[in-house]
Amino acid sequence: MTDIPKYKLASRQWKNKKTIIDVKGCKIGGDDLFLIAGPCAVESEEQIETIASYTSKLGIKFIRGGAFKPRTSPYSFQGLKETGLSLLKQVSNTYDLGIITEVMDLSLLDTVYPYTDIIQIGSRNMKNYHFLKEIGKTDKPIMLKRGMDATMEEWLLAAEYILLGGNDNVILCERGIRTFDTSNRNTLDIAGIASAKQLSHLPVISDPSQATGNRDLIKPASLASIAAGADGLMIEVHNDPKKALSDGPQSLYLEQLGDMMPDFAKVAKAVGKTCSWSHKHEIVNV
Ligand code: PEP
Ligand code: MN
Repeated sequence: MTDIPKYKLASRQWKNKKTIIDVKGCKIGGDDLFLIAGPCAVESEEQIETIASYTSKLGIKFIRGGAFKPRTSPYSFQGLKETGLSLLKQVSNTYDLGIITEVMDLSLLDTVYPYTDIIQIGSRNMKNYHFLKEIGKTDKPIMLKRGMDATMEEWLLAAEYILLGGNDNVILCERGIRTFDTSNRNTLDIAGIASAKQLSHLPVISDPSQATGNRDLIKPASLASIAAGADGLMIEVHNDPKKALSDGPQSLYLEQLGDMMPDFAKVAKAVGKTCSWSHKHEIVNV
């Protein structure tokens, strides 16, 4: 028998059956390619409503959007906070969408918890071990971003902290790591996606938006992620990217997202995945 790695509960050796997370009618980590789209941050009712109306027509079942934003500069837009959460809930009710949003700090857990279906843990918090332990005691699925400086083992050990808390529903999210190359915002670790799938039974999602920082790279980075075995994609879109209050340059125009989805389906099919959203998408685009 092969040795069990340090990240025991997260490992394939411990559980040789893929974890499939059932949330809001989606099975994350199953056969179907899971898609999340939405703005980096919720900015206004008009913004989130326009985006949700469009993405839901494409058959995308989850909306993303930060209400409490971890920004590098304290002078940058920090999010609409509770108002942002209510706006997410509003479009979730109108369009029957699942919500994923970030919990930036333990003190915000009770505020965010009632609004979200999946709790996002940001890259900057992947090594906040006390936070991970506590968040592991919650009963909602957790999407754990890879720390921008984290090795594969550190990332899986961070997942282990959450699993040890008793929460089995952890989703790994590759969002690019910092390397010597500054030509892109980060370096999307494509082999890391394949590797995480081989080492762990947990679902792996790719975030090409934080990884590239450039809307022109979202399509190739997404296709490569699907080909590498990603269970899903989380993509930033905006109704007016030039005016976005955060991450405008990496946010797709709405139509761009619609245009690239048939190619997502082609690559997904080639690697044995289904795309339940593609039928609806075709109807919208005829
Ligand atoms: C985000 O998803 O907008 C975000 C801030 O992500 P990360 O934590 O990966 O930087
Ligand atoms: Mn962002």
